[in-house]
Amino acid sequence: MLTQPLSATLSETALNAVTVNDADAGAPAAQPLLQLRQIRKSYNLGQPNEAEVLHGIDLDLAVGEFVALIGPSGSGKSTLLNIIGLLERPTAGSCKLQDKETSALDDAALTGLRGRALGFVFQFHHLLPAFSALENVCLPALMQEGHVSAERKAQAQQLLTEVGLQDALQKRPGELSGGMQQRVAIARALVLRPPLVLADEPTGNLDTASSAEVFALMRRMHAELHTSFLIVTHDPRLADQCDRVVELIDGSIARDERR
Ligand code: ADP
Repeated sequence: MLTQPLSATLSETALNAVTVNDADAGAPAAQPLLQLRQIRKSYNLGQPNEAEVLHGIDLDLAVGEFVALIGPSGSGKSTLLNIIGLLERPTAGSCKLQDKETSALDDAALTGLRGRALGFVFQFHHLLPAFSALENVCLPALMQEGHVSAERKAQAQQLLTEVGLQDALQKRPGELSGGMQQRVAIARALVLRPPLVLADEPTGNLDTASSAEVFALMRRMHAELHTSFLIVTHDPRLADQCDRVVELIDGSIARDERR
């Protein structure tokens, strides 16, 4: 039976990823996770239409933070998320993830670090339609480790149980509702126990009730696993429920508030 709390069965995650002060349990630890310094990004370098879209971003995330990234359309949120996700390289500046300067890494090393340190949740779930929920959640393990161990499979099952999908392990994405698909995507993002999950409009495609449910699930995973979340959202009600709100306007940080 997979009835133990996730915090008990997956406790090695928390222990590996973060040292939580017992006296201060639940509060973000000060341990740095991400450090951006003077990040700039220009597109079409050297062309007549060259444009700088990020103008020197400084941003620190500590282990265990739950942060909203907001801002008008075109302000650079996706570009910044792609840089933090090691999917795009900045034109200038320093991006340290888990104390590792990423600008010095080649593509293979970036891919390795991305697989170990980051989980992704997108607006559209990007589940593979031909695979079951369980197989989709196991995929990051297959890609990162070359096989799916019995332990990983059990962890994937446990996560799907935690997100309320214990009866849908063998269902394909097409047989699940939008909210359920997004819950599978969250389980997939967490299966390798990354210290940081990047979510790009994770509720943007959902109705209000499913959106609230998926957001609550991310909060619960954060509370239980101490996984950090950086969530791009257009929804001010969701941003209000995050512990910190970073606002980008025209490629610069206009506001950075902890609640
Ligand atoms: P947001 O996510 O806040 O809507 P984006 O990061 O998508 O903002 O875009 C920021 C700016 O960068 C926009 O002006 C957009 O047109 C431009 N941009 C984004 N990607 C590219 C690209 N690949 N080539 C050229 N310009 C881009």
